[in-house]
Amino acid sequence: MLINLQQQPADALLALIKLHNADPRADKIDLGVGVYRTGEGETPVFAAIKGAEKKLVEEQDSKAYLGPEGDMAFVAALMPYVFGKDSPDMGKRIEGMQTPGGTGSLRLALALAKRSGIDRVIVGVPSWPNHAQICADLGLGVVEFNHARADGKTDMDALRAALAGAGEKDAVLLHGCCHNPTGIDYSHAEWDEIAGLIAEKKVLPILDLAYQGLGNGMEEDAYGVRRVLVAVPEALVCYSCDKNFGLYRDRVGALYVMMPSESDLPRVMSNAHALARANWSQPPDHGGAAVRLVLEDPTLTAQWLAELDQMRDRMREVRAKLAAAGKVGAVDMTPFGGQNGLFSIVPLSKEQVLEMREKHGIYMAGSGRINVAGLTMGNIDNFIDAVAQVTA
Ligand code: PMP
Repeated sequence: MLINLQQQPADALLALIKLHNADPRADKIDLGVGVYRTGEGETPVFAAIKGAEKKLVEEQDSKAYLGPEGDMAFVAALMPYVFGKDSPDMGKRIEGMQTPGGTGSLRLALALAKRSGIDRVIVGVPSWPNHAQICADLGLGVVEFNHARADGKTDMDALRAALAGAGEKDAVLLHGCCHNPTGIDYSHAEWDEIAGLIAEKKVLPILDLAYQGLGNGMEEDAYGVRRVLVAVPEALVCYSCDKNFGLYRDRVGALYVMMPSESDLPRVMSNAHALARANWSQPPDHGGAAVRLVLEDPTLTAQWLAELDQMRDRMREVRAKLAAAGKVGAVDMTPFGGQNGLFSIVPLSKEQVLEMREKHGIYMAGSGRINVAGLTMGNIDNFIDAVAQVTA
């Protein structure tokens, strides 16, 4: 039977890593992979996480199974950051569980949606490719709408039209902040409108918060999620700690479920636990435990928040430098300044992206997506010059 399987396309970004690694040029630039980099081009372990890991080694006295929900103290410690420390719903109408990264959370959220009778998911495109892949794997239909306009603003008309045609069997999957791949987020006023539309159409919101703190700050980046949650009876929030705690390979995430009342939660969570059990049984513990220790210790918490501020400041600095370059060849870099998070899209053709790579040693996704954290004060001028040359 296995002989019948068809070859699947290689993941384009992973293929790009290989090409980059094999490139002998000393001044090559990797803007492909979606991890944060310091001004020195490194992706170090957060000092706060190192501190927590030390404690973990000293204090952890068992590695016995925890259960499909994972480390519930981790799940609880994160809640005030996601929902606001004064949220009346936290621990009442909202319950959570630990998942293997944001991907595990999305997998569970979408499977739970499917189990509850949802058959279509409305997604702005371009999006993180795994959104559509998970939907396809679960047999969920995807309804696409255009996320952003050519002028660098969100395409609210497209979202309004998509929601106008939606109903109770639909879910809408939105990026909470730091949209991947465009960096183009909804304004507060737009979130206010979106929250109203979702409530009016009774679609199920699935909010993907994978970059909290990397955009404008921990509180600011939660605006959309919190705004939608006050407007609707039910919602799913998919959280990743892999970027904002730098834990990528340790796979740290959480799924939060909000229901109309506290008494609805055990039924829904029992389904989420059953799905986790059938998928991975239990989430990996180490990273979640490290995050819990950071959040339970005020000194480590302050250290983590300071490290996150530093990351954000650096990305803002890179973005400001790009924006200051203004019109570069055929590309207006000004909008990059106001965009958020790790990613932006440089409007280049496939051929121009290839030329960036072959002539200039600059590796970016075929879509023109760049990881702005791959730029440093040492290589940004080369990048700007290369864009000028390939679009001249
Ligand atoms: N959502 C979005 C929008 C992402 O970009 C990513 C990761 N790049 C994830 C979810 C999943 O993150 P994780 O690595 O924690 O699975």
